[in-house]
Formats: sequence, C-alpha cells, structure tokens
Amino acid sequence: MKLLTKVLIAVGIASSTPFALADYPDRPITIVVPFAAGGPSDKIARDLAEALRKPLKETIVVDNTGGAGGTIGAAKVANAKPDGYTLLVHHIGMATAPALYRKLSYKVPDDFEFLGLVNEAPSTLITKPTVDAKNFAELRKYIESSGGKLNMANAGIGSASHLCGLMIQQALKADLTTVPYKGTAPAMADLMAGQVDIMCEQATNSVPQIEGGKVKVFGVTSTKRATIPALKNVPTLSESGLKDFNVQVWHGLYAPKGTPPEIIAKLNSALKVALKDPEFIKREEALGISVIKDDRNTPTGHKKFVEAEVDRWGKVIQSAGAYAD
Ligand code: ASP
Repeated sequence: MKLLTKVLIAVGIASSTPFALADYPDRPITIVVPFAAGGPSDKIARDLAEALRKPLKETIVVDNTGGAGGTIGAAKVANAKPDGYTLLVHHIGMATAPALYRKLSYKVPDDFEFLGLVNEAPSTLITKPTVDAKNFAELRKYIESSGGKLNMANAGIGSASHLCGLMIQQALKADLTTVPYKGTAPAMADLMAGQVDIMCEQATNSVPQIEGGKVKVFGVTSTKRATIPALKNVPTLSESGLKDFNVQVWHGLYAPKGTPPEIIAKLNSALKVALKDPEFIKREEALGISVIKDDRNTPTGHKKFVEAEVDRWGKVIQSAGAYAD
C-alpha cells in the first residue's frame, strides 16, 4: 500500500472514532468522593474502584473532597473536563441538595451523566456508648427530656445523616444541636469518644463499631430489618413507633455532562461487570448493603431513579422548611 493511502485510511479512522476514545482509558481515572476518607461513601468508592480496575484495566484513584454535605465534591465533578477521567461516587445527597441549597452551583440532573446506581444501604440510629438507655423507648424519653442539649452529628446539610437526623427530630418533635462534619468518619470518631451524643449512620460504617461495643444501636432506619447478624435483632424505627420512617441510602456513579457516549457506554459496561464481581458483592453484603441488580444500573434507569428521589426528598425538605445558603 502506498504511503498516501495509508495516511488517508488513518485519517478516516481517526475522524470516525477519535483515537482518544478508542483507547480510553489510557491513564488513571479519578473518582471524587464528596466526603472524608474512612466513611461509608469512601468505602463504597474504594471497593468499587477495586472492582472497576479489572474490566477497565486502569488505575483508579480516589479523591476525597468533603464539605457542605457533599456539594463541594459534586461541584468539582460537574465542572471537570468531560473526558471520562474524573468521575463521582455520590449518595442520596445528589437528590437532596437541589431542595436544601438555595445557592447550588450545579443542576441535578442536567450537569451530570448517569453511569449507574451502585448500592442501597440501611442506616442505623446510634449513640455514644455511655448513653443510659436500653431500647428506643428509653432513648426517646432521654431525647425528649434533654431540652435540645444533645449533640447530633452529621456529614453536613444534605447528607444522609443530616436528613435522617432531621426526620427523627421531626418525628420526636425534638430540637437537637446539630454538629456538622466533612463526613461521618470524623463524626464517628467523636461519637465513640463521647464528644457528640447521637447520629444516624449507614450500616457500612456503624456495624463494625456496634460489633465492637464502641457505639450503641437503637434502630434501623429502613422499613425492613437488616438481615446481617449484627442488626437482625435491631427493630426498625417504624416498628418502634415512628410510623413509616424510611431512610435508605444509595450511591451512584456519575461523570460530568458532555462526556462522550462511547465513554459512558464503556464505563457502564465496566460498572455492570463490577456489580457482578463476587468479591465486591461479598464485601458489601457482609455490611448489610445490597448491590444493585435491576435496571437502575443503566444510565437511563439511574437517571429516572434519581429524578424520582429529587422529587420525593424535595417534598420532605419543603415540608420541614429546611434549607441552606
Ligand atoms: N455517611 C455520610 C452521610 O451521612 C457521608 C459519608 O461520610 O460517607 O451522608
């Protein structure tokens, strides 16, 4: 073949499938976690990074950009170059921030590409180890008699722990003092040390501390009991009298808007492989977490689910009159 023909063929291929896309990924991918290292979002992102590394055959680096209930990290990804090298693992805060923050620098769903929902996890209502209550009824009396003096930790406005805490306070007509952290990992350290009194936290992070006797558990926040040994005898808050109480935390994988469709397809098929990885499933299920197996693991299913959650939480937040600037 003449050199000119070879060049023309190469140019033709390059214009229909740019080399950058065909070779994707050819350098490390960063997953931004919008909370501190060591918490539930960080754990799921690191486990997922490990499971994605195999199908993508690339290194995946986790970047913890915590603060403001996950909105700082989410904004970082919304504004990142849409080239598939900066992704986001975010939880329910993706759906609550639009109603909670009057000044949010990004739009949901418009500023993101949806790559698939990853998991669903129950949360637990836990306290520092020295709280003198044997069950939820006793804890309830303790909270009601505290006159707002108890400190309730959370991961900032819009975080799962904030929402769950807000709903508990509403249900108990209690007004606790809220203490925000950059994630529930540092909040957990303070709870175990008795610096704060109470917190809602995902089983991901609370189960090891419950098992170790470092915190006390008073309820599961989903409508069904968790089946793992550490939680199977713990009643749901709904069973304990907070009728229909339901906070189920989920995580999803996102890319900035405008990421090429070829890259989205590649990331989604890698995600589907990861979600079937027996090692990944085993790690998550040991902590009471369900890995998504239905069509919410597709870009359309994920987006539809988040839109419904934006709607659902928007109404809860509006009726609570909660907001942040
Ligand atoms: N579990 C936290 C929350 O309450 C976030 C985290 O640190 O992963 O939203």
